[in-house]
Amino acid sequence: MKIKSIKDRNYKEKKVFLRVDYNVPIENGVITDDTRITTTIPTLNYLLSQGASLIIASHLGRPEGKVVSKYSLKPVAERLSQILNKEVKFAPDCIGDEVKKMVSSLKEGEILLLENLRFHPEEEKGDENFAKELALLCDAYVNDAFGTCHRKHASVYTITKFVNDSAAGFLIEKEVQALSRLLINPERPFLLILGGAKVIDKINMVKNLLDKVDTIITGGVTAYTFCKAKNWEIGDSKVEDEAVPVAKEIIKEINKRHLEFHTPLDHVIVQKISEDAPYIITERGTVPHGWIGVDIGPQAIEEYIDCINRAKTIFWNGPMGIYEIEKFAKGTIELAKAIAKSNAFSVIGGGDSVAIVNKAGVADKISYICTGGGASLEFIEKGTLPCIEVLKE
Ligand code: ADP
Ligand code: MG
Repeated sequence: MKIKSIKDRNYKEKKVFLRVDYNVPIENGVITDDTRITTTIPTLNYLLSQGASLIIASHLGRPEGKVVSKYSLKPVAERLSQILNKEVKFAPDCIGDEVKKMVSSLKEGEILLLENLRFHPEEEKGDENFAKELALLCDAYVNDAFGTCHRKHASVYTITKFVNDSAAGFLIEKEVQALSRLLINPERPFLLILGGAKVIDKINMVKNLLDKVDTIITGGVTAYTFCKAKNWEIGDSKVEDEAVPVAKEIIKEINKRHLEFHTPLDHVIVQKISEDAPYIITERGTVPHGWIGVDIGPQAIEEYIDCINRAKTIFWNGPMGIYEIEKFAKGTIELAKAIAKSNAFSVIGGGDSVAIVNKAGVADKISYICTGGGASLEFIEKGTLPCIEVLKE
């Protein structure tokens, strides 16, 4: 897939509308993690170096179309200014006369951050008039908000109809490159690691990968859902009942293709989920009545690490257990470490999965960590996203 790159365009003296994802966690007005800001800096610096002035726009939280002061982007303007060591002007809205005035006085190399797009209900509705108003502010449009690219919102989708120059920033470019490498001629064997809880949400992604992968290993609620589909005893382990019929279908497809498929050989089990719950290891693939599976056991870890060591391409989504409780995080952490050691091309996606590799301290040894959450998984499912389609050459 060839998408329009900012590298191929001219931004001299242009007012560039840059859509980013600055949806950062804020507690009592203080930004607790600024990763989403720092990762956009290469795109910002490049555009500035080319002689652009920047009109930056983002959403933050879920204000649901109303002005909610705790979702103001003001603290983001301040942090961005600190990071760049440069003034960042802040507009009290994202459209309207005052914004127009601020934009028209913006000079080459200057930066203006607009207030939260989602203070207007039109943003999430993909409204054309709202998109037009945003488009009128600028000479060129750049999208670097991969995490929102599965939504047809005004500032990521509709706006491209009204600007004559649009392109993708470096973050989108990198994400599309990494995810495409999973989908187009992946190096084999290709290992899919499936864990976590939201089975139904991910089932279409799994279906799309069946024709590409060689091996699938499972953990977490996903594993129990597959075990239940095979009519195995799983005790009181958590399953997603509505996903059991599709899990059955997937098992059929897996058998048809002669793929290697694993559920855990053994489990860490408890009678009650809590920090201080005593646990035992099952030593087999089933979970007895009255017990709950909370992590994969040592045999499963060994078998899964062997799969990791054989793979040339790995995609991992979802933890192997209730990793939020430290003693049930072992399976997940051990796999993270094994992936970090392997020479395979490895991609990790999903909010919790990304949190785990950070916790395991191995993030820099993973080939690519998805920034998009739901958008990344949807890209793997469909091979593209609505807002990426509109940025194609
Ligand atoms: P991601 O955000 O990476 O896509 P999910 O949101 O699907 O992952 O799953 C993460 C959640 O799954 C975690 O909160 C974790 O506690 C839960 N989980 C994993 N294994 C189990 C289990 N055996 N029983 C209950 N919850 C589990
Ligand atoms: Mg999650």
